[in-house]
Amino acid sequence: MHLRVILFAVLAIALLVPSQDTFAKKVSTDGDEQEVRVEHNWKRMSSEFKLVHTDTHDYTVWHNFIKKTRKCDISHRMKTEVWYCDLHNHAKSEVSFEETIHSHQHK
Ligand SMILES: [Zn+2]
Ligand SMILES: [Zn+2]
Repeated sequence: MHLRVILFAVLAIALLVPSQDTFAKKVSTDGDEQEVRVEHNWKRMSSEFKLVHTDTHDYTVWHNFIKKTRKCDISHRMKTEVWYCDLHNHAKSEVSFEETIHSHQHK
């Protein structure tokens, strides 16, 4: 469920970015269409991290022989990198999952 939310967010970001035109259509002299590879000059412009809260769960601790329940927030650290190609004056961004972080240390 929560993974789906993240996948949706990544998809939404991907849709906002212009499509990667790695391949361009080229019509040769005899009329056949061929896929021709286009070279890009991708340079990383920025990378930023953000925490996306995904879940909250309970964990138990013992304090003076009394069992207590505490709440812990689970977040995913996501990295967004922005790349720019000065050959074609366009940009793309990539979102990747870095790690899962719990707000409290517990077993
Ligand atoms: Zn390019
Ligand atoms: Zn936790």
